[in-house]
Amino acid sequence: MAFASKSPWVIHYDGSSCNGCDIEVLATLCPGFDGERFGVINTGNPKHADIFLVTGSVNEQNIEVVREIYNQMLEPKVVVACGICACSGGVFHDCYNVIGGVDKAIPVDVYAPGCAVRPEQLIDAIVAGVAKLDEKAAALKAARKGA
Ligand code: SF4
Repeated sequence: MAFASKSPWVIHYDGSSCNGCDIEVLATLCPGFDGERFGVINTGNPKHADIFLVTGSVNEQNIEVVREIYNQMLEPKVVVACGICACSGGVFHDCYNVIGGVDKAIPVDVYAPGCAVRPEQLIDAIVAGVAKLDEKAAALKAARKGA
């Protein structure tokens, strides 16, 4: 098990969420649901983060911000779309400025639908993300050995 699996650091970005999903992300990290028991630490620095939690849909204004945060994260990294807006645009999918889900901007590894997404779902998504992180770390290591 890699060190990131034991203590995945997450960064949270509110795309164009109504804030419902953001409250649930915070609840996930607070003592009530206690994401920290899985070693999950919240960071504001993309360079320190392993898992990118995005709420809300991607629109004309935030698409470059989402890409910029993602590009600043080091490999291996995982993206979790938190809530149905982040998965597909949700109820805002046909708004004039909405492009769609987070996967319109960056690759998404785990989809956690729901309106709002529940902390239990987010914990499941982070655990699934950690498994993906391990897979990616192993692939990177193999690629470096082969290079
Ligand atoms: S999925 Fe629901 S709660 Fe979450 S940002 Fe969209 S509208 Fe708000």
